[in-house]
Amino acid sequence: KKYVYGFHEGTTEMKSLLGGKGANLGEMTSIGLPVPSGFTVTTEACNQYYEEGGRLWEELKGEILAHLRNLEEKMGKKLGTSQNPLLVSVRSGSAVSMPGMMDTILNLGLNDISVEGLVSATNNPRFAYDSYRRFIQMFGDVVLEIPKYKFDSILEKKKAEKGIEEDTKLTAEDLQDIIEKYKKVVKKETGLDFPQDAKEQLFMSVEAVFKSWNNPRAKVYRRLNDIPDVLGTAVNIQSMVFGNMGDTSGTGVAFTRDPSTGENKLFGEFLMNAQGEDVVAGIRTPRPIIELKAKMPNAYDKFKEVAELLEAHYKDMQDIEFTIENQELYILQTRNGKRTALAAVNIAVDMYKEGKLSKEEAIMRVDPLQVEQLLHPTFKEKELAQAVVITKGLPASSGAATGKIYFTPEDVVNANNRGEKAILVRTETSPEDIEGMVASEGILTARGGMTSHAAVVARGMGKCCIAGAGDVRIDEQDKTFKVGGKLYKEGEYISLDGNQGVVYEGKIATEESQLTENFLELMKWADALRRLKIRTNADTPRDTKQAIEFGAEGIGLCRTEHMFFEESRIFVMRKMILSRREEERRNALAQLLPMQREDFVEIFRAMGDRPVTIRLLDPPLHEFLPHEEEDIKHLAEKMQVPYRQLLEVVEDLKEMNPMLGHRGCRLAVTYPEIYEMQVQAIIEAAIIVKEEDGIDVIPEIMIPLVGELKELQYNKDIVLRKAREVIEEQGVDLNYLIGTMIEVPRAAITADDIATEAEFFSFGTNDLTQMTFGYSRDDAGKFIKEYKEKNILEKDPFQRIDRKGVGKLMEIAVKLGKEARPDIKLGICGEHGGDPNSIEFCHILGLDYVSCSPYRVPVARLAAAQAAI
Ligand code: PEP
Ligand code: MG
Repeated sequence: KKYVYGFHEGTTEMKSLLGGKGANLGEMTSIGLPVPSGFTVTTEACNQYYEEGGRLWEELKGEILAHLRNLEEKMGKKLGTSQNPLLVSVRSGSAVSMPGMMDTILNLGLNDISVEGLVSATNNPRFAYDSYRRFIQMFGDVVLEIPKYKFDSILEKKKAEKGIEEDTKLTAEDLQDIIEKYKKVVKKETGLDFPQDAKEQLFMSVEAVFKSWNNPRAKVYRRLNDIPDVLGTAVNIQSMVFGNMGDTSGTGVAFTRDPSTGENKLFGEFLMNAQGEDVVAGIRTPRPIIELKAKMPNAYDKFKEVAELLEAHYKDMQDIEFTIENQELYILQTRNGKRTALAAVNIAVDMYKEGKLSKEEAIMRVDPLQVEQLLHPTFKEKELAQAVVITKGLPASSGAATGKIYFTPEDVVNANNRGEKAILVRTETSPEDIEGMVASEGILTARGGMTSHAAVVARGMGKCCIAGAGDVRIDEQDKTFKVGGKLYKEGEYISLDGNQGVVYEGKIATEESQLTENFLELMKWADALRRLKIRTNADTPRDTKQAIEFGAEGIGLCRTEHMFFEESRIFVMRKMILSRREEERRNALAQLLPMQREDFVEIFRAMGDRPVTIRLLDPPLHEFLPHEEEDIKHLAEKMQVPYRQLLEVVEDLKEMNPMLGHRGCRLAVTYPEIYEMQVQAIIEAAIIVKEEDGIDVIPEIMIPLVGELKELQYNKDIVLRKAREVIEEQGVDLNYLIGTMIEVPRAAITADDIATEAEFFSFGTNDLTQMTFGYSRDDAGKFIKEYKEKNILEKDPFQRIDRKGVGKLMEIAVKLGKEARPDIKLGICGEHGGDPNSIEFCHILGLDYVSCSPYRVPVARLAAAQAAI
């Protein structure tokens, strides 16, 4: 088996084998871009490494050495020798980009001998020694796992001694001294000398990259982003070019368009006389890319040309790493750039307008889940105008965030667990901070540019971030920060405007966001392409209106129980539940009737002629009752019944396993009058709206938790009888449908029976998942995390439909249902209706619609279009 590929052998299509970086290096090589030569050790080798018990096996070493020889020949240089030595970089690269998660080693091949070779080859001792000390530092950190600060403190001490701020001011002699000290650190920490054999350095580095695939922060990142553990990482070995050769050299990172707004202009940063990590590490502050134009016009023009070419080639905004060695431009990496939701939409629409993408391609460029960010609130203009500005930083990731100041990721996580909103304030972030970043409302860093870790990761998460707010002086010990003499303490509120990069004092209220023209346009294209209809789960007139604004085409689930929880209603509801006799119950229901009817009227009005599915009462009745002694006493008083008597009823209604107990249509088998009242409210409301507003509502009345045909028949009879009675009494014509949820596995398997009585099915995948896996939906949170970590489940099945099991039941139900009733309406109203992957599955199954929460409606519109493309 072939485990190593030269760059000239790779293409973009080979991403899963070569990793994203390796595949793109191959592709760029083949289209003739200036890419330093090298080769890639495959992701399969990474997996084999683990199979072998975590060691490099002989055949692989042989293959690597063979490719190394080729590279040496090509470059006319040799690794580790005293004459014209070859230096290489070793970098990880998996199929899915994992920014900042994996490790890089530069200048590999340097040792006490080859460093002298580099001195004479370049005639630049300062450069050679600087490269060597960087190599020891990186190798020490990444491969030998020596704490970084042990090296940093030596460097800092030297600079302090010399009274200089910038590394570039260190002389060759200074650097030689630092190298000796670094080597002592290595000896002290590992008990061994710094490895002088360059091939051994190479093998150790390849191993370190393989190992980094399973370091904790990489695992966390994969878990957060649903990246499977089995992918593995490739290793890229590439001949070095040098950005630290002096003032005609430099290195940088740039996006072909602005990753925050999408604006079509080069966007990035560079540093003169610097190497790789310097730009992102936030140690020296990089300069905006446009300044390169004045400094090195030729290199700048060439870069601009390459950037345009790469964007056109990949048909997407690119994130490009480059190095300039003695005026000569080299491209070290390109990948599709991470971007905010706003930028994603703007870039997609702009690239269509520029004739670079078709509408379909443009739609595929936008991550549906990201779109939800666009719908979220921004600061209220008025409050913002009065807010006190603390300082400004870079607008690294858009959005608005208000929260309490915390200085460590742990404190943010703890605050979050207490229910507080927290802002992570940090000098700079590193991959270890990722959990704190996730738990925060927003992130503020004092150092680092637009391509710093904080900026890149926050954008990916869609989290508001301001980076490089240089005036902020953080004292982690004291848990305070200072700006211009003013002190801010842990627990105080600040607000971040990620769009402008402005930090404000205190809390600022937010308001609904404005949907941009580009967004509306993209949505229009999506609507024209999708086959699935998008409905919403809404049970208040307010949610309904919101959902329509977002493009909902109907209500797929109105959970009527939610209408009973309001202050004034819960008392009547409780009276109904606690009634001992039918007559009492009917009295209470009669009081509930007008309230329900009023809600339905409003919802029907808001929805106009869009379809509305109303589900009859579903939860176990005890959910409406108080359980604390205090509360029961209070209720008894209010109801004017003895406490003991009430307690008895409450106790009576308690169930061992209420989610599998007396709920759903089982309630109406015992108390038909409940459903009778609800049907009356629905039909009367529809008639009112028809007569008063001329809207032809066709209510879809849905019976929950059916598992057996006769159960459905019994309930359907209740509905039919009442509906006919009301219609007759009012003397108005009204159409309505009666259908059921498919959320009990038995209903799915006997769907041909069920469909003889049901005019529509709506998949309740929350309960269907619960009952198929036997995982309590209220308790699964406790163990699903563990299941994911231990690779038993790839994804929480309550978030994404488990196609194999739950999906199989749906497939059976669709097939049987259509056999029995070819024109049966099919939809889904479980939470999965708002999950893009599940929406794709619903499209494949041939459902008519998906229904999701109002804020997910645009997500679903886009996901449904992508499924259809
Ligand atoms: C479901 O079970 O999927 C559903 C939509 O109903 P509920 O979540 O109200 O049980
Ligand atoms: Mg349910």
